[in-house]
Amino acid sequence: MPNTKQTDIAAIRNILERILDISESPVPRCRLLSSGFGPSHTLKVKEELTGTRACLGCGNCIDICSLLAREPARLKRTAQRTSLALETMVGTDCDRCYQCVLSCPQVDTTIKHFIVKNRSIEQMRHLLAHLQPTDDYYLDQFYEESGNERKPD
Ligand code: SF4
Ligand code: SF4
Repeated sequence: MPNTKQTDIAAIRNILERILDISESPVPRCRLLSSGFGPSHTLKVKEELTGTRACLGCGNCIDICSLLAREPARLKRTAQRTSLALETMVGTDCDRCYQCVLSCPQVDTTIKHFIVKNRSIEQMRHLLAHLQPTDDYYLDQFYEESGNERKPD
């Protein structure tokens, strides 16, 4: 639920690029670079939340994580559904697929659009680099969406 006046990519581009190059979950840092809670939320609370950059604990980033989808045993490390929990479960094995950032309600649309426009190819390259021969589901989906025939092994 970001603010209507969101973070200007030009002002954060260098640090954002560095964050997206690290093999750790990028969502907490992207959340902190965002504009925070917008005033149009429907939560019934008395506190003024506008500008709050806190994790909401919604768990969207955990549900969408490609690494956790492949290795669900990691989900047993904690029952929490926060960005800190995601960092604990992923560690330095992040695929850099950026789906956690795209799914987070606390990350500005400006940052999400930057990723969609500038990081799609790298996103797929990093993901393919992490896949094992048994992860055929992902490879088949990739080949299907790219319009290429997959050659038999
Ligand atoms: S693998 Fe993807 S969804 Fe999971 S932490 Fe890394 S960038 Fe986020
Ligand atoms: S998707 Fe939800 S749980 Fe994950 S960092 Fe964003 S607000 Fe927190």
